[in-house]
Amino acid sequence: MAPRQFDATTESALRIEMLDFLADATVDQRDPITRLALEQDFTFNGHPFKLIDRQRGIRKPTELSAALTIMTPFDRKKRFDYTDEIGDDGFLRYAWKGTDPNEGDNVGVRAAIDAAVPLAWFYGIAPAVFQAIFPVYIIGDEPTQHRFVVATDATSGLYRPDSPIEAVLRRYVTRDSKVRLHQPVFRSRVLLAYEDRCAVCALGHRELLDAAHIDADSDGGAAAVANGLALCKIHHAAYDSNILGITPDHDVKIRVDLLEEVDGPMLKHGLQERHNQPLMVIPRTRAARPDRGLLAARYERFLIA
Ligand SMILES: [Zn+2]
Repeated sequence: MAPRQFDATTESALRIEMLDFLADATVDQRDPITRLALEQDFTFNGHPFKLIDRQRGIRKPTELSAALTIMTPFDRKKRFDYTDEIGDDGFLRYAWKGTDPNEGDNVGVRAAIDAAVPLAWFYGIAPAVFQAIFPVYIIGDEPTQHRFVVATDATSGLYRPDSPIEAVLRRYVTRDSKVRLHQPVFRSRVLLAYEDRCAVCALGHRELLDAAHIDADSDGGAAAVANGLALCKIHHAAYDSNILGITPDHDVKIRVDLLEEVDGPMLKHGLQERHNQPLMVIPRTRAARPDRGLLAARYERFLIA
């Protein structure tokens, strides 16, 4: 017997509880979440309720009027580079299941447009590991491209399918899409590649680590793990303010005037003693290692700063 359909109030309560659950489980989208947790850990009214379907990207529970979650599987080939989720208007895109508009899961996602209900997006960053992005809203359908238009909370009211979006708005939407989807995914992938350790000092506390961009301005490279370094907060700030440089051969350099200063243990051990030392952590996978060209360009800027 198929489960009974929930009334609107119950469905709404379930969505809110899912968002609360995800906020707790991921420390507000800071940490990734496993497939197992998405399958087993959420309960509603005392019963387990799966947030993900093992064989499908779209989770449209029978009890609900519209899709609850969407998932982008981890793709080994696209693991270190992904640029195609943002459309020309700056909004995110999610591919249909296949090309049939009447396929059940596609109908379930489309139903979320009119219902204007919040969903969660699970973006694969490693086998069976996801970055959760939430809430997201399905705001449009692009039948010729077989994909849905997805907005974050902040941008869901701005979509104008019938008129071209003006440049200033497009920049805003693009920036928001990157902040909500690309930055968390970038962070998770970079920290995963460096096994949750600072490249310079090997500090291993996730709360104190950032995914730093080697070239912050390079848009195409901005999303690639090879344009990233896992750095602790101090070394990230030192790198960004050109107190610390990293050569293309992975050697750490400290600005000359700091080498002569006398101060406390952070200066001595955290900075001065790292001078001329190799990076302590680099990714095992060659493709995830920092790009030599990007490192070289950035190191040039350190030298002239
Ligand atoms: Zn560090």
